[in-house]
Amino acid sequence: MEDIKKILNEQIDSIKEAGTFKDERVIQTPQETEINVLGKSVINFCANNYLGLSNNSTIKKAAIKAIEEWGFGLSSVRFICGTQTIHKDLEEIVSEFHSMEDTILYSSCFDANGGLFETILSKDDAVFSDELNHASIIDGIRLCKAEKNRYRHCDMNHLEELLKTSNGRLKLIATDGVFSMDGVVAPLKDIVLLAKKYNALVMVDDCHATGFLGKQGRGSGDYHNVLNEIDIITSTFGKALGGASGGFISSSKEIIEILRQKSRPYLFSNSLAPPLVAACIKVFQIISENHEYKNQLEKNTMHFRKEIKNIGFEIKGDNHPIVPIMIYDAKKALMMSEKLLKRNIYVIAFSFPVVPENEARIRVQISASHSEEQINKALHAFKDVGKELKII
Ligand SMILES: *Cc1c(COP(=O)(O)O)cnc(C)c1O
Repeated sequence: MEDIKKILNEQIDSIKEAGTFKDERVIQTPQETEINVLGKSVINFCANNYLGLSNNSTIKKAAIKAIEEWGFGLSSVRFICGTQTIHKDLEEIVSEFHSMEDTILYSSCFDANGGLFETILSKDDAVFSDELNHASIIDGIRLCKAEKNRYRHCDMNHLEELLKTSNGRLKLIATDGVFSMDGVVAPLKDIVLLAKKYNALVMVDDCHATGFLGKQGRGSGDYHNVLNEIDIITSTFGKALGGASGGFISSSKEIIEILRQKSRPYLFSNSLAPPLVAACIKVFQIISENHEYKNQLEKNTMHFRKEIKNIGFEIKGDNHPIVPIMIYDAKKALMMSEKLLKRNIYVIAFSFPVVPENEARIRVQISASHSEEQINKALHAFKDVGKELKII
């Protein structure tokens, strides 16, 4: 024990020296647009609570009711005695939502991505992955034996070059639907065209899109009008869809069947708890009947994006509630987030190695449940602090 303690303490010290040590901020209230941090009330701009459903009373009631009806937990994996009617119901609802044949639930999207590639690809196959894909896609690909190709971020020429020279029996292109550091939607129109040309499958991880992006809120494929051309969708219940936890994969009958038979995080990990499953069913009911949440999110996003530019800040990304405000200098970005917190605006500064060097930024995440007043307060604070730090 003494040996490992010494080794790890050296590592921890060097993380601190590099300035990348992560202190967990403790929140003393439920997840809302207004939360208590360090004993004071702040407006929260850093949750993935896009639709504002994380503390929604209808969803909470559905979870409580499900505990009474279906119990707290299942104490089993799916195939032994961990599949209830509600698990099959939720899978069917998610399939319908994406117009896919079938869906499989996981404990998280991290697990979904971890259990996907190894199960469906062999050493004769090839995978093509955007260099900025989420860590769970990278890890999932690491586990599989297929030929691995990494293309430059959203660079379609590079992707085509790699597709052209690959000898893979099956080819699979894997991409985040939305890249969370930039708020950039993947160029799925072009990806789908290349997939057709080179007979490849397309896998999209839509964690930052499911439930609100696109005309019907069906994600990045919906946004680009190519939902029917996407072969595999993975996503999470832990962001817009209530924010609790759980993930899924939607695809063809055969792909989902082989995942049920062989995917290790599915086979060897506990079934999703009944209150989560029932609450997620309620979430889909709410978002299919009521577009108000999605519309309000779009309205809030447009308002913030427009006004923050008018103030003089440079922002990145597509029309997405992730709004990266470019500061470039890491120290300034950190100072900015601290000064904003003093004014009760809670945002996070990101710098190298999370984003490229000299591209430090403040990432703002807009929610449907932000009031206009809250957004305007943030805009005012940004303006004052931006001037103070001579950024604008
Ligand atoms: C958040 C996220 C995940 C992980 O989802 P969990 O359900 O929290 O495990 C995977 N991929 C992307 C792109 C994400 O943003």
